[in-house]
Amino acid sequence: MNEIKFDAGANNVLMCPVCNSENPHHEGVTVFDRAEDAAVIKVTEVSDGRALSRAVPERVAGNPSSRRDALAVRFSCEQCPNISELTIVQHKGSTYLAWRHVGTRSYADAFGPVAAL
Ligand SMILES: [Zn+2]
Repeated sequence: MNEIKFDAGANNVLMCPVCNSENPHHEGVTVFDRAEDAAVIKVTEVSDGRALSRAVPERVAGNPSSRRDALAVRFSCEQCPNISELTIVQHKGSTYLAWRHVGTRSYADAFGPVAAL
């Protein structure tokens, strides 16, 4: 799941890491602002027209970086129930991009109610 794939065309359309569809929907962004090895980090979440910033102990913050700053862009998929985050992590002077799985929607949440037979 960790491979970041794009469509074969010239537009670099991001593909779902689970079903390879070209329909992941951008749901929100989380910024992890951490001085190197700090025990408490500033976490800012932006989604649904709101921004929430708070100081969070690093051990429970969900920061994808083990020591520094990071970004996580959350996507849900139009074609499968997958919810993933594309993470951008700073580590030892380099920047890494990766997917991480964060959840699965129910069938009804992903595709709407099932019609009665
Ligand atoms: Zn998918």
